Formats: sequence, structure tokens, C-alpha cells
Amino acid sequence: MQQAEIGLIGLGVMGSNLALNIAEKGNRIAVYNRTHERTHEFLGEAGDLAGNIIGCDTIEEFVAAIRPPRPIIIMIKAGDPVDQQMELLKPHLAANDIMIDAGNANFHDTIRRFDALKDSGLTFIGMGVSGGEEGARHGPSIMVGGTEDSWKRVEKVLTSISAKFNGDPCVAWLGTDGAGHFVKTIHNGIEYADMQMIAEIYGILRDGLGLSAGEIAEVVAGWNKGRLNSYLIEITEKVLGAADPITGAPMVDMILDAAGQKGTGKWSVIEAQNLGVAATGIEAAVAGRVLSSQKQEREAAEKLFGLPKAHSVSDKKALIADLESALLAAKIAAYAQGFAVMAAASKEFGWSLPMPVIAKIWRAGCIIRSQFLDEITSAFTKDPHVANLIVTPAFSEMVKETDGALRRVVSHAALSGLPIPALSSALSYFDTYRRGRGTANLIQAQRDFFGAHGFDRVDGKDYHHGPWGSGAAIY
Ligand code: NAP
Repeated sequence: MQQAEIGLIGLGVMGSNLALNIAEKGNRIAVYNRTHERTHEFLGEAGDLAGNIIGCDTIEEFVAAIRPPRPIIIMIKAGDPVDQQMELLKPHLAANDIMIDAGNANFHDTIRRFDALKDSGLTFIGMGVSGGEEGARHGPSIMVGGTEDSWKRVEKVLTSISAKFNGDPCVAWLGTDGAGHFVKTIHNGIEYADMQMIAEIYGILRDGLGLSAGEIAEVVAGWNKGRLNSYLIEITEKVLGAADPITGAPMVDMILDAAGQKGTGKWSVIEAQNLGVAATGIEAAVAGRVLSSQKQEREAAEKLFGLPKAHSVSDKKALIADLESALLAAKIAAYAQGFAVMAAASKEFGWSLPMPVIAKIWRAGCIIRSQFLDEITSAFTKDPHVANLIVTPAFSEMVKETDGALRRVVSHAALSGLPIPALSSALSYFDTYRRGRGTANLIQAQRDFFGAHGFDRVDGKDYHHGPWGSGAAIY
């Protein structure tokens, strides 16, 4: 029997779709799932593609079915199951075989797994896959971390299954060990911020302007034809336009306002903090999900405090136009922060992350895919090492054009008591970032007063402590 080009373990939502995608692109693939019934069910559902798929009930059979050096994708529940699966697989592998963790791993685990295999002759790739079920089946965005040699072994297959943007494959080797999973984590962090900002804008339209879900869907549909054109805006329109099959009411009105989360948003915030980078949009989004889940507490607080009256709006059309620009302005801040986190991580972990390439492979296939990422690609291609996306020529123009709208929207929401943690954080981030003389001089003075921490002077003189105890008061 002709051996497979690649193997895949884990026929859940992502694994089964990825396997079908691989088979469809003309690659022979061997598959294995812990629960064997699932493998048989999968083969039964694969239709014509089953001819390119070798279903295996044992690890021995599975490994023997793949051409060495064997690339084996592990697409199972993240965390301990991956370590367990690797341990079961290892004794059956030979030199240069590659275990590829394609789940949503914490990149610290990826570095640990990569290092643990260093002297074994085996190789490890940490691979971020974005695009959900649909992306896995028809073309995801794929972020690869590992050795360059192992990447070369899988490049052809991964290129064949990845999403394409104007013909460019949305897959790339981004660096060693945890680089791919780190970039996937930040992708998800940006996704959290983007979704939170869209939800805040929805809140202003619903609770500030009193628009129905259907009316908001129409507004959003218009935005999708403009600069906000993106997958998340597209699905927002679809979600808002859908009816509940049980009651006939808008589906979105029947969904509990308590959002779940699995961890990548939180990891993004933790890493941003560890690296000393302000990622206020992602922080606001994660905090927003936490507060959303405290439904009972929020209901009790509403009873206690009541809700402020919505601030009157004389020109609804103008506010709606402002909301579109405000969302763009806030998006710029969140994406700039995400890229700044990656730039810091790249230095810290020695990855040399290629920023233009990352923007490029996010243009299609992944959840944050958008026209906007094509503009980010151009900005980073012109200046790959720019300190902050905000100061690139194209984006500084966009910020100048939209920050007034963001300011008006934030003011309107604040006066109406509408929660906008991510939008307001974007405005504060921008106002802080663009102010040359901030207020940290006072913080430094306070730190020196109580902790003798010292400070640098604006005139550069060699005198680093204040006269706090010497009675040198000037008032
Ligand atoms: P899923 O549908 O719940 O499938 C889980 C798979 O993991 C099943 O094949 C299951 O095998 C296997 N598994 C669980 N514990 C195992 C263990 N201890 N040993 C061996 N196999 C085990 O999950 P999924 O949505 O496909 O997600 C898989 C990975 O992709 C996760 O890391 C997830 O975070 C990531 N991811 C998901 C999405 C998404 O949109 N769903 C997007 C990007 C990334 P059994 O059939 O035997 O239970």
C-alpha cells in the first residue's frame, strides 16, 4: 500500500476537517483517533476523499502507514492530553520524525516539548491553526514554529491546505520552538479585543439609540462594504439578522449575555504584562468577558444603582457614522498593541518574528481576517521594525482622521452610562501614547518619597532624590 505523506491524530471538530482538507488537496493521509469508533465514522463520512485516507486502529499501524521522516499532526484537546499522546507515540517513531501540535497550546508548553525532544533525534513543531471548523476544512491560517528543516518537510502539504489571499498562501514558518503558538495566542488576543469592541458598538446602537437587532444588522451590513470589511463584521451582520427558531424573536436577543473563554485571551494579557507592553484593548476584552459572566452580581447592582438615562442624540445619522470611524480607530490601537507584544516577545525569545509575514498570513483563513490586515501588511512591509503601527504614515493618517469620532463616541457612551471598556481604553492609550510630557513625574516623586527609588531629572543633572524630608516646601 502507498504510504501516507502525513499523519493526523485526533478526529474531533478541527482534526477531522483538517484531515479532509489535506486529503482533498491530493495528499495521502493516515488518521488515528483514541476512540476507534470515531475513526470508522469519519471514514464513512469522507465520501470520495476516503481513497486518500488510511484509517488506523492502532498506533503501530498508524506509524507504519506514514512515509519517513513522518510528520504527525496532533489535533487533540490542549494541555496534558498532548503530553500523554506524545508519550504513547514516541516509542514507535524514528529519527527525524516530526510531532506537530496543532491545538491551542500555551507557547511555554511548546518550548518545553520542543526542548525535551532536542537530543532524541525527533523533532517538534508547534503550529497555530486559525479559522475554526470552516477554516480547517477549506483553508485555515497556519502559524508554524520549529526548526527550519522540519518546516521544509511539511511546507508543501501545509501550503496546499492553507487559505489563500490573492493567491498568497496564509501559512508561514515564523521561528523556532514556541513562535507559532505565541503568534496564534496574540491572534486570539486581538480577536478578543475586536469582538469586544464590536459588542460595545452594538451596545450603543441597542441601548443608546434603541435600534432593534435587525436595524443594527443593516447598519453593520453597510460597514462591511467599507473600511471595516472583515469576517467578524460579516458574521456580526449574519448573527444580528438571524431569528430564533423557537420564538421567532431575533436570535441574539434570546442569548444569555455571559461570554465564555478558554485561555488564549488571558495568556495574551499575561505575556503582554510579562514583556512590559501595554495591551489595554486585550486586557479590557478579557475583563469584559469576566464581568459578563458575573450575571447575577450585575443584575443585583442594577437594582441597587439603576441605569443612567441615555444621553439625548440630536443627529442619529451622525452618531452612526461616528461609530463606524470610532471602531476603526479603536481597532488600530488594539492591533498596534498586539503587534507591539509580538515585537517584544520576538526579542525576548530570540525568534526574529517577521511582522509583515504575520500580517500577511492573517489576511485570509483566520478569524480576524480583513481588508485592514492587508493595510497592516503594507505598513510593515515598508517599515518592518517600526516601534508602533500607529506612527506609520498610512495608520497615522487613519488615526488623525478617526480619533475625533472615537472621542465623541466615548463621550456619548460615558454620559449615557454605557459600558465601553475597550473603546475607552483605545482612546486613553492613544492620548497617553501621543503626549510627550505625561504625568509619571508625579509617580516618580511619590515613589522616591516613600521608597527612595530615585528619579531622572528633565535637565539630566546628577541629582536623583527629592528634598522630601528637608522642609524645602515651595507653597
Ligand atoms: P474536539 O472536537 O473536542 O475533539 C477533541 C479531540 O481530542 C478528540 O479527537 C478526542 O478524542 C481527543 N482527545 C481528548 N483527550 C485526549 C487524550 N487524553 N488522548 C488522546 N486524544 C484525546 O476538539 P477541537 O475543537 O477539534 O479542538 C482540538 C484542538 O484545536 C484544541 O487544542 C483546540 O483548542 C484547538 N482549536 C480549536 C478550534 C475550534 O474552533 N474548535 C480552532 C482552533 C484551534 P476522543 O474522540 O477519543 O475523545
